[in-house]
Amino acid sequence: MAIEQSGLEEHLKKYFGFDQFRGLQKSVVTSVLNKEDVFVIMPTGGGKSLCYQLPALMQEGTAIIVSPLIALMKNQVDAIRGISDNDGVAHVLNSSLTKGEIQRVKEDISSGITKLLYVAPESLTKEEYVDFLKEQKISFLAVDEAHCISEWGHDFRPEYRNLRRIIDRIGDHIPIIGLTATATPKVQEDILKNLQIPNATTYKASFNRPNLFYEVRPKTDQVDADITRFIKQNEGKSGIVYCLSRKRVEELAQVLQVNGIKAVPYHAGLDGKTRAAHQDMFLMEDCDVVVATIAFGMGIDKPDVRFVIHHDIPKSIESYYQETGRAGRDGGEGHCLAYYSYKDIEKLEKFMSGKPIAEQEIGHALLQEMVGYSETSMSRRQFILHYFGEDFDPATGEGGDMDDNMRNPKPQREAIEDVKKLITVIDAAGERYKAKDIVKILVGKSNAMIASHKLDTHEYFGSGKDKEPAYWTALIRQVMVARYIRKDIESYGTLKVTPEGKKFLQSGETFMMSDDHTYNQEDSMPAGGGKAAALDDKLVKMLKDLRKKVAHQKKVPPYVVFQDPSIDDMATKYPVTLEEMANIHGVGDGKARKFGKPFIELIERYVEDNDITRPDDLVIKSTGTKSGNKLYFITSIDRKLSFEDIADAKGMEMNDLINELESIVYSGTKLNVGYWVDEMLDEDQQEELHEYFLESENDNIDAAMEEFDGDYEEEEIRLYRLKFISEVGN
Ligand code: ADP
Ligand code: MG
Repeated sequence: MAIEQSGLEEHLKKYFGFDQFRGLQKSVVTSVLNKEDVFVIMPTGGGKSLCYQLPALMQEGTAIIVSPLIALMKNQVDAIRGISDNDGVAHVLNSSLTKGEIQRVKEDISSGITKLLYVAPESLTKEEYVDFLKEQKISFLAVDEAHCISEWGHDFRPEYRNLRRIIDRIGDHIPIIGLTATATPKVQEDILKNLQIPNATTYKASFNRPNLFYEVRPKTDQVDADITRFIKQNEGKSGIVYCLSRKRVEELAQVLQVNGIKAVPYHAGLDGKTRAAHQDMFLMEDCDVVVATIAFGMGIDKPDVRFVIHHDIPKSIESYYQETGRAGRDGGEGHCLAYYSYKDIEKLEKFMSGKPIAEQEIGHALLQEMVGYSETSMSRRQFILHYFGEDFDPATGEGGDMDDNMRNPKPQREAIEDVKKLITVIDAAGERYKAKDIVKILVGKSNAMIASHKLDTHEYFGSGKDKEPAYWTALIRQVMVARYIRKDIESYGTLKVTPEGKKFLQSGETFMMSDDHTYNQEDSMPAGGGKAAALDDKLVKMLKDLRKKVAHQKKVPPYVVFQDPSIDDMATKYPVTLEEMANIHGVGDGKARKFGKPFIELIERYVEDNDITRPDDLVIKSTGTKSGNKLYFITSIDRKLSFEDIADAKGMEMNDLINELESIVYSGTKLNVGYWVDEMLDEDQQEELHEYFLESENDNIDAAMEEFDGDYEEEEIRLYRLKFISEVGN
């Protein structure tokens, strides 16, 4: 069919009301109209649907669209019906239809009304449908989300593997168009091989989304508060927060709600009606935030999603790219924030452990890429694009400074000698080993495999032992992105030297590298909450000086006034009222009243002097799940019940009970635990401990244990500390 290219815009306008094609759409549409086999790789939101919808509408016959999800198909059918006078123009064929409905579909197809027929791959295998479709005029067959064909994609569906066989049964020369947003070279190869379209005209759009800002933060136990704060600072904007589990979705949605954020949960455990209602609320802007499992988002097409937060790290970069791709579709701001902790990676690995070995290997390899993304200190955009086989230069590319690493670069150092060492070792060891083994060889650490391959007898074994394993891991990633080495996916990630790498050995080029982030839980974030970066060091120092003064006046140790995490939290949230102070980590009403005033005054002056925009209303409340227990503990202690009975009544270990009591006492509520301490410790002992805590610089239990060198059990010291803080500090 020869359609003038210039006429295509008119059709675009007529059917979709759009004035212009986006990116590669026009070329793709032209190819499809020319009956070519076509392969389209375009990021999520790029406008793939139109690539088959428009030619289908313009041509005679019915286009078969294979798509993995029924919900997704329904949305598309509704959309197409919306632009046509005849509902028959698009249909879904699936097992949920009644006999009568199926009849209607068939009639519409036979009479040439239906231009688009959406089917799930498993429906397409039905004899009855195949026999029917054989007799119809089929314009082409489109395989949407074609990465489902590949085990190396993030959403493998075995049924997709049978498509070629079925197409052959339906007709001889049916053009095939495959579409996907997953661009790794391996997945692309699988798609072409499986659909048997080796000569397909391939259109690959850039995966760069210049308007998206990428950021990774360490995940600590303050993650909920951090997310709440982020959302409050972005009040009124639409956003999605992804969590791994349904339980987490529910909990976090609640935390956001009690903090006055219009948030709703979304996961597969909710009934269909609730899910639909919540999705609508989001689309209609009756709520700002959806907290969801990955069940949410497929086919969601809200152009002004301003942030996508990952409470848990996803299982692959494809998933991450796809999920973050829902931000900023209109080209406006889109903040992509992921919380990373290696513990979560281990959790995901555990989930995989029941699966067949081959699948585990793949899952593990995909996950390691995610670790690389999270820990790297290089341009995150460059890292993602490299993963998708695309070159990107952060110095010149669009969006080059749009990530945390580029905004706050780590110091760089010359690493040319180490790069040469690395390339030499990979080469000398026969290009047969994965990154983690190469690191072991470099630092000279043997394992069973290394010993059995006698690698430890070589001169190069241990040649890089002057550096830490983490250094080499970081270097490998950065050298890989520079394309001097590559990871061979076929052999599960063994490292190979590229021709460019060989050339580099001879050249005098430099290689600057920077260390990865370590995201060490303890030192990257104050326990009291707030991300480390937000902490105001100058204010911390002033607050600590004030604390010292107050402690001196009241003749108590400074930590009795406020603990360090509380000070850190104040320097993040700048509380200027007693109420705000009471919501600082580790500070309750009582403590705020007793010690808060001078601190508030200092902060107020500081905020004013330094012209600081205070994160308004950033008072993060917890859901109070433990408040029921809290009341029980307080009343039980008033009644002088034994701690053992209290713990038993709540099914807790003594250790956990003391934990809870500590959090009550430290936030300023007095507990009269003396009766129980009297049971455990005699008068002399109590006096000794009292002296110790009064004199000590901190209330650290380990330090106390050391000081008394085994005279007391840990539990005894903690118990006494409870009494001490209660009496002296409250
Ligand atoms: P993909 O399948 O690639 O993720 P979609 O096909 O769902 O993307 O399209 C994403 C959005 O872009 C849709 O809202 C669609 O209507 C819109 N869109 C597609 N092509 C154009 C165009 N040429 N002009 C304006 N909007 C477009
Ligand atoms: Mg799509």
